[in-house]
Amino acid sequence: MNTKKHLFQLRPLALFAGMLASLTTSSLLAQNAVPGFIEAETFNAMSGVQTEICSEGGLNVSYIDTGDWMEYAINPVAAGAYTVDLRVACPSSGGTVRFMSGSTELGTLTIPVTGGWHTWTTISSTLNLAAGNQTIRLDVVSGGWNLNWIRFMDSRASPESPWDNASGSGNWNTSDT
Ligand code: MG
Repeated sequence: MNTKKHLFQLRPLALFAGMLASLTTSSLLAQNAVPGFIEAETFNAMSGVQTEICSEGGLNVSYIDTGDWMEYAINPVAAGAYTVDLRVACPSSGGTVRFMSGSTELGTLTIPVTGGWHTWTTISSTLNLAAGNQTIRLDVVSGGWNLNWIRFMDSRASPESPWDNASGSGNWNTSDT
């Protein structure tokens, strides 16, 4: 039997196995574009929460208790500061949520009292995100509120006008090219 020939037949199999492995670790996990909009109920993983019919349409995450968490796969287009908006409802006493990326704490938001489980308001903060695929986790520091959606907007400084003079500032500019 020709050993060399058999090795050649194994090579395509190994390549295929490698492709499958990279698929399962990256692209099969839906990555939310950032900037972008994420329905709270589309978490990739969670602990302790449930979903329910939302008064604003679709679903929201509910039964959010202290110690619960939700995870989302995101893919920021670039590193930098992003405005994060949360659509929340909280009948009484308020709450707190902490954003984590791996073991890195990104920031903490206070959930205000809105007066009802489906009395919605949008709260905003700024988070610094690394570029590329990552999982963010919303750790519920203090529960008792509902979450309908999460929105990330680019809050980095606007680039210079392409019409102004070259300044050597590092920002894009036609006369810099
Ligand atoms: Mg929703």
